[in-house]
Amino acid sequence: MSAARSWRQQRFDAGFGWITGPTQYGGAGLSSAHERAYQRLERNYTFPAQRIYDIGIGMVAPTLLAYGSDTAKSRYLTALHRGDIVACQLFSEPGAGSDLAGIATRAVREGDGWRINGQKIWSSGAHLSALGLLVCRTGDPDKRHANLTAFALPIDSEGVAVRPIRQMTGGSSFNEVFLTDVWIPDELRLGEVDRGWEVVIATLMNERAAVGGPAAGGSGILSTERLASLLRRFGRADDPVMRQEFMRLHSELAVAKWTRLRSQARLRAGQRPGPEMSIGKLALTNNLASLSRLVSHALGPRIVADTGEPATYMWSELVLGQPGLRIGGGTDEVQRNILAERVLGLPR
Ligand SMILES: Cc1cc2nc3c(=O)[nH]c(=O)nc-3n(C[C@H](O)[C@H](O)[C@H](O)COP(=O)(O)OP(=O)(O)OC[C@H]3O[C@@H](n4cnc5c(N)ncnc54)[C@H](O)[C@@H]3O)c2cc1C
Repeated sequence: MSAARSWRQQRFDAGFGWITGPTQYGGAGLSSAHERAYQRLERNYTFPAQRIYDIGIGMVAPTLLAYGSDTAKSRYLTALHRGDIVACQLFSEPGAGSDLAGIATRAVREGDGWRINGQKIWSSGAHLSALGLLVCRTGDPDKRHANLTAFALPIDSEGVAVRPIRQMTGGSSFNEVFLTDVWIPDELRLGEVDRGWEVVIATLMNERAAVGGPAAGGSGILSTERLASLLRRFGRADDPVMRQEFMRLHSELAVAKWTRLRSQARLRAGQRPGPEMSIGKLALTNNLASLSRLVSHALGPRIVADTGEPATYMWSELVLGQPGLRIGGGTDEVQRNILAERVLGLPR
């Protein structure tokens, strides 16, 4: 994490950390064309992986900018973009995941703030975070969507307990978060009281845009050049079944890239991310599943036992971690429902 942080800090201090951000919150106040030009340049270099910041910068910061009070924006936006702090998303609960409007964590008005009690789960990165984007029930549970309110929760508030969950990859990247009599000031509320559903939807749209990110189009782990050299290295490049699978993945990645370019054009035209983002998320999970199958066949037993051979056993993390991507950020079934109802106009 420290290499990732020092790179982000250095980049921010040089003026490239938040190119399109408003200057009063630490941004450079430039256009998305400037941002794209910088990214094109940066892609030519190797720098420490920034995954730890994905949620804070891709999901929490845009929501904070759109819905936060001046105090909350001044306190957190620079820190998030500079990489001084990490943030997490505190939405899911043991009894509410896909059906997020069913959450039970309650926030009750007290003085000039809110008293919060409840439990969140599957909170990625909460154990490393200083800030959580929290959604709570602030009224009658029967009203579901109409009675939710969002907050920016400092994770070091008294009454917040974070407990990591062990995953089948062997790591612990997500957590249970217990909230017992936590008090936070009203200035950390995001959006209007009882209008938290709007904040949730805006965050989930940014999440789908961030999850179906550049890798969906065939870079990073999904680089086909990298995969081709792996197949050559293990003598599988002439295998007709492998070649067939490789070309199928190559084509799917090209389609994902074009789809992404289309939705980026919409964003550039000033439109907000829409349900089409679900296509990006589905494409990413499908392509990672295909990659996982191909790599498993190419590497065989090297993927289940660490032989010390470079760049072999490390793929086990993808093979064991990729099924979770079908669930996190909205399950495949839920994404298909969104596409069926909101894009294709099919009945519920
Ligand atoms: C890797 C990972 C990271 C995560 N990170 C976070 C995080 O940082 N913050 C956070 O708040 N949450 C996070 N989550 C939680 C995630 O958002 C939920 O797991 C997800 O929304 C599903 O909710 P659930 O687990 O309660 O399953 P359920 O909603 O109970 O779903 C169970 C099954 O029913 C299906 N289903 C449910 N409703 C429908 C429907 N209407 N139509 C068809 N099928 C349906 C689902 O597709 C699924 O197969 C993460 C999860 C994973 C796996």
